[in-house]
Amino acid sequence: MQATTYAVIDTLAIKHNLSLVRQYAAHSKIMAIIKANAYGHGLFAVAEALQEGVDAFGVARVDEGIQLRKAGISNKITILEGFTCQQELDSLVQLNLDAVIHSDKQIKLLQQQVADNKISVWLKLDVGMNRLGFNAAEFKTVYEKLQRCRFVKKPLGLMTHLSCADDPDSLITAKQIAVFNDSVSHLDGEKSIANSAAIISWPDAISDWVRPGIMLYGVSPLSKEIKLQLKPVMSLYSRIIAIKHIQAGEAVGYSGAWVSPHNTRLGVVAVGYGDGYPRYAKNGTPVLVNGERVPLVGRVSMDMITVDLANQANAKVGDTVTLWGKNLAVEEIARYADTIPYTLTCGITQRVTIETLVDNDG
Ligand SMILES: *Cc1c(COP(=O)(O)O)cnc(C)c1O
Repeated sequence: MQATTYAVIDTLAIKHNLSLVRQYAAHSKIMAIIKANAYGHGLFAVAEALQEGVDAFGVARVDEGIQLRKAGISNKITILEGFTCQQELDSLVQLNLDAVIHSDKQIKLLQQQVADNKISVWLKLDVGMNRLGFNAAEFKTVYEKLQRCRFVKKPLGLMTHLSCADDPDSLITAKQIAVFNDSVSHLDGEKSIANSAAIISWPDAISDWVRPGIMLYGVSPLSKEIKLQLKPVMSLYSRIIAIKHIQAGEAVGYSGAWVSPHNTRLGVVAVGYGDGYPRYAKNGTPVLVNGERVPLVGRVSMDMITVDLANQANAKVGDTVTLWGKNLAVEEIARYADTIPYTLTCGITQRVTIETLVDNDG
């Protein structure tokens, strides 16, 4: 029996998107970012699809790195938030996980470390995001402290993260790249700046390592609509489970928030915010029924949405509905829901069955 509401993950599309990263950053090593369950696509399936083609993986938390090692993934893995306590540091050492270093507390723990196994680290510079990392003024001092730390492998990695790379017209990004280059150019060690947006829009940010996330999943990281050659990886599907005939003037769904302007047929689709479909998707958000666009009408509820089938005379119970993915860009759905596509793919819930497509002819 097939699940009513399911996501299909196309691993060939992931590989296609990785090849696009290689075109943008032909001479860089690639750290594929698979945090947050690979942006909702399934950590292990994505790690398996990518493990031959990338130089490392990046995840946010220690626990995510532990899960990858337990699943037998032997690639280099960087923990982007680093470790927060001795116990986490012990896990990193034991499992050969690399850490981003951004705080004095982490440096103290490294200085006190007595075990012989060394750890690889990325020292993080904050160039204006004001989130993780040391400021330019303190960077040299911290770098030297880590250089003296015999528990830390040399050379250190040197990295930063840009705050506005998704806007190709931003004046801030060139300045942030310059701050990074000024701070690290005379220091020994591999450099890394670029996330997906920077890989696509800011060639000056492409250095020894790039850190693509969202673009691997076939989703544009840019704040503007620009045509890219990415292929969507996640498609979210459901089915029509009921059809309702209503008259002009009748209200639909919670709070009667939508009143039909015409006599019509509504399709009731088995997907809602309980599956990760966005609660704030507006009336008119496109949904595909048998491949044709119909508008969402009425409030999104936990388990269902309603669509207007006025132009779909043949639609019937059991028909397949696409919420986003192939032929319906998640970027477009995000605009209708006043959010970014990252939140939509990350937000798929446990209830949604994930099917991983390994072979696909098109
Ligand atoms: C999440 C993350 C990335 C990947 O960002 P995308 O916009 O998904 O490409 C890269 N670097 C760091 C430090 C991150 O936290």
